[in-house]
Amino acid sequence: MTKVFHCAELKEGCTAVIRGENADQVIELAKRHAEKDHGHTEHPEDKVAEVRKRIRDE
Ligand SMILES: [Zn+2]
Repeated sequence: MTKVFHCAELKEGCTAVIRGENADQVIELAKRHAEKDHGHTEHPEDKVAEVRKRIRDE
C-alpha cells in the first residue's frame, strides 16, 4: 500500500504531496523536500516524528 504525506499539514501553503512504498521511504523523501524547498539543513527527531505521525495509507 502506498504511504502519503501532505506537507501542508506541517507547512501551511506547501502543495507538496510525498508518496513512498513505506513510511521510511516517505520520511527520506520528506527530508529531501525539506532541504530543497524549505531550506532545512537538519532533521531533528521531534520533527521527523511530526512527519511520521501524519503519514497515511493511500
Ligand atoms: Zn513542503
